[in-house]
Amino acid sequence: MLNISLGELKSRELDIVYLDFEEKIDSIDVDGRRVKVTSPVKVEGSIANTDEGMYLDCRITTVIEDSCSRCLKNMQVEIDAQAQGFLVHKDEEEEALEGEEDVFLYEGEMLNFHNIIRDTIIISMPQKLLCSEECKGICPGCGVDLNIEECKCSKEQTDERLIDPRFEKLKDLL
Ligand SMILES: [Zn+2]
Ligand SMILES: [Zn+2]
Repeated sequence: MLNISLGELKSRELDIVYLDFEEKIDSIDVDGRRVKVTSPVKVEGSIANTDEGMYLDCRITTVIEDSCSRCLKNMQVEIDAQAQGFLVHKDEEEEALEGEEDVFLYEGEMLNFHNIIRDTIIISMPQKLLCSEECKGICPGCGVDLNIEECKCSKEQTDERLIDPRFEKLKDLL
């Protein structure tokens, strides 16, 4: 659990807190799916006092492992994302969410950075991930990875017909 204390910002002892740290996270939960985080998460930026409240502006970089949308092969995906928005106390959540700005919630005087990292990674994950533009994917018939093997589905059907032409008629009856 990664918590950042906001006490000194809130009391205005400090006007800005710089963030520069690395955090090892094994995995994040994305809609019930476990996504591996394969490189330490790097956070660089600041939280500053402004007239409208505390404002977070940071860059989050890491590498995650996800699977190709077509062939399901695991691949490394670089994440380089910006998290920007006001910090809002949990009690003022409803008001804040009506606005257009991104907000990050905190409780007490602590900002849970783990949630910010997780949400930022999820938002910046590519919706459709391809190992290559030419990825041929998996055959829906036999399940072979068409990048590695040639599918035999259509070929086998042709062979069957050659061996026994009655087979086709039989299939129609079934
Ligand atoms: Zn692929
Ligand atoms: Zn096939």
